[in-house]
This record gives sequence, structure tokens and C-alpha cells, in this order.
Amino acid sequence: MKKTLVMKFGGTSVGSADALKNVVQIIRDAKKDWGRVVVVTSAMSGVTNLLLDSAAAASQGKLDSLSETESSLRAKHFAAADALVPDSARREALKAEIEKLIQTQMNLCKAVAVLGEASPRALDVVASLGERMSVRLLAAVVESGGVRAEALEASEFIVTDGEFQNAHPDLGITVEKTRRRLNPLLDENVVPIVTGFIGATAEGQVTTLGRGGSDYSAALIGFALPANEVWIWTDVNGVMTTDPRIAPNAQTLPEISYNEIAELAYYGAKVLHPKTIRPVVEAGIGLRICNTFNPSHPGTRLTANGHSNGSKEKPEKVIKAVTAIRCQRLVTIEGRGMLGVPGVAARAFSAVASTGTSVPLITQASSEQSICFAIPADTAPSILRALEKVFKHEIVRQDIDRIWSTEDVTIVTVVGAGMRHMAGVSGKVFSQLGANDVNILAIAQGSSEVSISFVVDHVNTETAVKSLHELIVR
Ligand code: ADP
Ligand code: ASP
Ligand code: MG
Repeated sequence: MKKTLVMKFGGTSVGSADALKNVVQIIRDAKKDWGRVVVVTSAMSGVTNLLLDSAAAASQGKLDSLSETESSLRAKHFAAADALVPDSARREALKAEIEKLIQTQMNLCKAVAVLGEASPRALDVVASLGERMSVRLLAAVVESGGVRAEALEASEFIVTDGEFQNAHPDLGITVEKTRRRLNPLLDENVVPIVTGFIGATAEGQVTTLGRGGSDYSAALIGFALPANEVWIWTDVNGVMTTDPRIAPNAQTLPEISYNEIAELAYYGAKVLHPKTIRPVVEAGIGLRICNTFNPSHPGTRLTANGHSNGSKEKPEKVIKAVTAIRCQRLVTIEGRGMLGVPGVAARAFSAVASTGTSVPLITQASSEQSICFAIPADTAPSILRALEKVFKHEIVRQDIDRIWSTEDVTIVTVVGAGMRHMAGVSGKVFSQLGANDVNILAIAQGSSEVSISFVVDHVNTETAVKSLHELIVR
């Protein structure tokens, strides 16, 4: 049986003609070692934002920048086509297809402007166009590089529910359809080049899997086939000790466990979409993160969740990485009468859930007189409204005195499996933050005990991350 490899290329990796040249070489090399290769691609860098921003502007009746959007979409895709697709018939056919998708965007924006609103469903059609353009470009470029390839839209086989902008796949049908669509191509030695990020409902409406969701698409396809390995090609040397944009001295972690990466991804490390992990773990698929711009670098290998020997290590050694999620708020429900009220927490969290928001962090209350949790800043007004509604009577009776939220805060998380049962770690972390004048607003330990999170004021984000990173890399 031939081995199967799924490779996903991120936005920067397919973002220019130069980057695409690397991608073609990587695919060519992979074809030598792997019998069956599937490629998943993101939209070219910046394109998804451009599409969504122009639809958002249109919903406010603003169409003045639409022609600029049109020309920049055209320039970006056509420049790469001109540079890398020498055959003029193939190039012109490609450009015509991309042009059609650009015109779809123009028409959608005009329709949105007339309606004065863009529904989540319409926004998914808008957002899907980026991958639908890049997949055609990449397939033509790969074919021009001498490798047989075919562009495919995952909406043909990744079947999801109708939760637009954050759709959940139906694994049973997806597995069956994916195999049926991809296996014949793989048997013919063709490389399927598939859109990341998108799926469709059973009725055929286009959905997206959430921002950054192309990683998840690769994992789903890997799960379905099943693949032996999934490699995520991005713009840095794998998973690093922190975001190199915050700390340029960040170092690559040659290995990291699934538990550790799950916490890192969940708490903001953009390098991997958090949903990627479950399908690959369940199917026992190897996962690797590597750099399109430095392909000979080994990057990061995911490893099984081992038992740590943390207790033998020094506290600072067991911390592997630091990450941050910005733009959060802390909500507090407080009141002396809460002690006697049954089910306050359950009612609070179901009120939050009713707004469609998930809570990234719940803090250990210092007393039973308050409940405190983090939520994304943009959801704060609707969540406060929902809470005030559900606790209307308690507020009138003054069992609950106040429900309020902070200004913007950041959740900073340190990750490392060796932290389990290691008392010294929190102490080390507290003193490091204290020494750098970072005030801690709240603390929570990750459920899997491989992470500790702190909430800090948003102005302290960089200082907190950099100073904690000094515990790992000096
Ligand atoms: P892609 O378009 O390839 O999916 P992303 O921008 O989504 O790439 O993710 C890669 C980026 O993630 C890197 O450029 C880096 O700035 C950021 N990042 C955040 N935390 C980390 C980390 N711990 N290790 C590596 N990269 C990180
Ligand atoms: N293009 C999509 C986004 O920008 C998906 C991805 O890049 O993974 O969110
Ligand atoms: Mg990404």
C-alpha cells in the first residue's frame, strides 16, 4: 500500500510568485517519497481579510473602495499566474476563472449594499472566494511545474452543519465523500489540490470552518483518507517558544506533545488551528509543522502525550512555550447573597452559551461570592445583557450586587507538560511577572494541567510574554 501525505500551505506560503515556486518544489520532492500526495491551500495572504472587509464596508453602504479591491485581487493573482504559468492557453483559462470569481465578489458586495446587511451565510460565500481563487492558481502552477494536479473545491466533499462562519463537519458523510472524490485521482497519480477553510451543508450551501481553518481542513482530509502524515507548511520554522513577532529570539521546539500544542493553539498561538489536533490524534496520523521558506529545516514534530519527568527538572526548564490571546474581557458576577443561590454558575454559563460564545477561561474564585470568566471583547455587550436578563430577580433582591466587565485584557498562557504537580512553576512565573511590574488580574490552570493562564491588562501584553519567555530562552 502506498503511503499518503496531506500537505497544507498557509496564506504566506502561497502569497506570491516567489513563495509559490517553493511550494512547487516542495510538492515535487514530496511526490518522490510519497505515493499519494494531497495538497490543501489557504487563500493568498491578505485575500480573506480583503474580501470580508469589502463586504463589511458594503453592508454600511460603502462601495467606494470596491474597485480598488477588484484591482488588488486581480493584481495579486494575475502577477503569480504571469510569472509561473508559461503556457498561454492555460494561463488565459486560469485568469478567466479567477476573473469570474472576482466578479462574483463585486456582485455580492453590490447586493449587500442594497440590502444594507450581510448575513453569516452571505459572508461565507464571500470568504470562500479566496480559497476558490488560490486553488485554481496553485493547481495551474503545479501543473506548469510538471506535476499532474487537479483543483478541487472541498465544498464537494466536506459536509458541515449550517453554522455559517464556524461550521462543524459531519465526519461520517465527509469521510465517505472525501474518499470517493480523492482516491480515484490518487490512484491515477494526480495530486488533488483542495481548498482549505471551506465546506458545504448537505443542501450545498457554502460554509467556512472558522478563521484560520485551513489547518483543520487538512486534518479532516487526513482523517478521512486516512493519511499517514499531515504536514502544515507555514512561514516560520515550526512551533516556537513564543510568537517570533513578539520575541524575535523565539526558538523552534523540535518536538511538542499533542496536549501541549492543544493548549498553545487554544490560547492563541496562531501557528496551528486548535481544531486540527483531534482528528489527527484520533486517526493516529503523524503531524509536522514546517517552513515553506526554509524547507530543509526539520520544523516541529508532534509526539504522543508522554509522561513528564518534570519533578526532576528545574521549574524554568519545564516551561516550553508562552502564548497570548488579546482582546478579551473579564466578566464578574458578584454579590454577598450568591452563597445561598443554587445553580448560579450553571445559569451564568448557559446564559453565555445562549449568545453562541465559548468561554476560554474561568478563574478560581477567591471566595464564593463571585464568579469570574473571560470572553472575547466584542461579545461583552451581548453577554452582559444576557446575564442581566437571567439574573433579573437576584439583582432586584440584591443577592447579586453587580455584573460587570473589565476593559480589554490579555490571557497569557505558559505551556509545558512538566508543569504537572510542580509547585515551583507558578512561583517562578509570579515572581517573573512581579519583577517586571505586570499585575495579574486572574489566574487559571488548564484542565489538562499542561498550562497555566494569567489575565493581564492589555497594555502589559508584550512585557508579560517577553519576560516569561526569558524563563525559556535567555
Ligand atoms: P498560515 O497562513 O501559514 O496558516 P498563520 O499566520 O496562521 O500562518 O500562523 C503562523 C504565524 O503564527 C507565524 O507567522 C507566527 O507569527 C504566529 N505564531 C504565534 N505563536 C507562534 C508560536 N508559538 N510558534 C510559531 N509561530 C507562532
Ligand atoms: N483563508 C482563511 C483565513 O484567512 C483560512 C486560512 O488561512 O486558514 O482565515
Ligand atoms: Mg493559519
